[in-house]
Amino acid sequence: MPQTIPGLHHVTAISGPPQTNVDFYVGTLLQRLVKKTVNFDDPGTYHLYYGNQQAEPGTILTFFPFVNAGPGRAGPGMASAVAYAIPKGGLNAWMAALADAAIEFDGPLERFGEQMIALADPDGLRIELIETNRGTAGIDLSDDRPVDGGFHSVTLWLDNPDRTARLLTDVFGYTHAGEASDGGQNRHRFLAGGQGRGSVIDLITSDAASSGRQGAGSIHHVAFRAENDQVQQAWQEILRGQGFDVTPQIDRQYFNAIYFREPGGVLFEIATDPPGFATDEALDALGQELKLPRQHEPLRRRIEQRLPPITLPQRRTK
Ligand code: ZN
Repeated sequence: MPQTIPGLHHVTAISGPPQTNVDFYVGTLLQRLVKKTVNFDDPGTYHLYYGNQQAEPGTILTFFPFVNAGPGRAGPGMASAVAYAIPKGGLNAWMAALADAAIEFDGPLERFGEQMIALADPDGLRIELIETNRGTAGIDLSDDRPVDGGFHSVTLWLDNPDRTARLLTDVFGYTHAGEASDGGQNRHRFLAGGQGRGSVIDLITSDAASSGRQGAGSIHHVAFRAENDQVQQAWQEILRGQGFDVTPQIDRQYFNAIYFREPGGVLFEIATDPPGFATDEALDALGQELKLPRQHEPLRRRIEQRLPPITLPQRRTK
């Protein structure tokens, strides 16, 4: 029996052209491209996974890049921001580096006692960098942009947060950590029991009349961790018992997935930690070659001809 959800596993979003996406997440945000594969349901499109050096759950942001994607926009019923954890004392270096690169950002701001900045990725997806002790122990502060802490949190924008809040607290085992108001937004914070990487979910409501749209720069779904198949199956039964329409287990090669829509409209997934990203290539070689699931391997040449080439930017090390 699972007791509680430990935190986020990955977040999946939609982007425009893949090279622009790689340049930003590897070149600017210093994420590691940990897997270059295709959308299993549409193998003419990439599926790019970024994470920390060890490609650990709770650090993985993935994209379906569409060369001709229409612009998306966050709105009620969607995840609206992804926040990375920066070690305490590391934000000044990030602000200096972003300013050097002429990349605009808001801040520094304070939220629930933590210092943060916010910026937009090339497709308009809101990315936050938040100074925190959660999951950032041991990160080298002497780096010019100290990173590798993975996720701090995800923000969900909801018309009414009550039922989503009850799912987090009564089913997932999160605790309500507080409420804050800023700029016409009301924000409720929820913490997973472990307090580690990716353990924060914020729910916001907004006075602004707006409707969201899936497209480049929007978040498609938010995945939580299950430590193995047995734990995931228990969650499937619990959620079905609560009346949620949960999918059967789906093999995503690097994890097994179940999906359901939470009461506020955001697509949730529960993904297993195993087998992980080193299942089909060595940890030190992650992301260098195009990896295909077995069912698409016979079409490799056609797929490779259709996919636009990607060049990895020089990943700065100190
Ligand atoms: Zn997913």
